[in-house]
Amino acid sequence: MSASTPRSAATPAAVEPWRDPAAQPFVRIEGVTKTFGKVYACDDISLDVYRGEFFALLGGSGSGKSTLLRVLAGFESPDRGRVLIDGVDVTDLPPYQRPVNMMFQSYALFPHMSVAQNIAFGLKHSSGADRLGAGEIRDRVQAMLELVRMPQLGNRRPDQLSGGQRQRVALARALAKQPKLLLLDEPLGALDKKLREHTQFELVSIQERVGTTFIMVTHDQEEAMTMSSRIAVMDAGRIVQVSTPAVLYEYPSTRFVAEFIGGINLLDGRVLGHEESNLRIQCDEVGGELLARHPDPLPEGTAVGIAVRPEKIDVHETRPEGMDNVVVGKVRDIAYLGDVSIYHVQTEAGAIVRVQETHVARSSEPHYDWDDTLWLSWDAASAVVLTS
Ligand code: ADP
Ligand code: MG
Repeated sequence: MSASTPRSAATPAAVEPWRDPAAQPFVRIEGVTKTFGKVYACDDISLDVYRGEFFALLGGSGSGKSTLLRVLAGFESPDRGRVLIDGVDVTDLPPYQRPVNMMFQSYALFPHMSVAQNIAFGLKHSSGADRLGAGEIRDRVQAMLELVRMPQLGNRRPDQLSGGQRQRVALARALAKQPKLLLLDEPLGALDKKLREHTQFELVSIQERVGTTFIMVTHDQEEAMTMSSRIAVMDAGRIVQVSTPAVLYEYPSTRFVAEFIGGINLLDGRVLGHEESNLRIQCDEVGGELLARHPDPLPEGTAVGIAVRPEKIDVHETRPEGMDNVVVGKVRDIAYLGDVSIYHVQTEAGAIVRVQETHVARSSEPHYDWDDTLWLSWDAASAVVLTS
């Protein structure tokens, strides 16, 4: 995992409207289904997004993220279901009548126009009540250039800009008409890794300053975790789980989410019984019993997955006493990643358990070696029981 703190961890509850049962959603998606031939691109999706959120739709390729975004923008009309924005049913409205703008992965800047002309384009071509005079357009363009920290570059052409600058111009153009909702489809997809990380923070900072509700599509879980207030994980046209980055990471509701978000160990077992708030589970892969936090009893014999993050596991050279879960194995693989090392520890019964060692001192190296025997332990509360 990246060292960045998920935004929600630092966000006070007062600005977390999804925790407030009385809060009205700003975007409401109700039972939206969109098929292409036999493919259910969106399969009965319902979702609420609140005003001012930076919301992410996260999923693998083909999971239906872009289709859902296009339904919100009005570029696709759903077979079934409704879309409400700010209390208004927009399901049958064309894109230009929705208070929405969309930023695409290919920024599609006009190559023959200057940066300022690109940003002004949508303002000049609007009609009706939101039509601005020439002076107002100039002021708005300058404000947008300042917002994306390019106040001096209005006269450049797109081919005189770096990739990161082009991305910012596209953002400025998308925000110029002051949409209530901005949709971003893989907005950082065209940037290389280093620039992408920098731009993630910049995009979050711009969103906080303008306060516009953002819904972003990404297939990159670290990007979603770094940037978003909440994430909807999508798989095969459905939403599997919606939560804050921290809850998705700590309490995945399915194997799919557990494996999609960060590194995790998934062990198979069968329920033996319930003790206080824990399930006792027979796990043949580690040759013994495990304890995992689960307030509700499950019937004896139920097949479950036990999910444990590599950084929640402690490593010992001798058998530790008094621990909820103890597993022994031999080091089969070591990956040195600079800040941490990951060991693959194989139990006699065959399971490979990944554990993480954090390097705090300068130039500390992996502490253990291939074929070392290690005792692993973790708390029942650090394990998540998965039934689907
Ligand atoms: P994602 O953005 O998550 O990669 P998409 O929403 O683009 O996924 O696509 C979801 C599914 O719908 C895929 O199987 C894709 O092939 C299909 N699909 C999307 N758009 C169309 C289209 N215009 N015509 C036919 N099939 C489409
Ligand atoms: Mg897509």
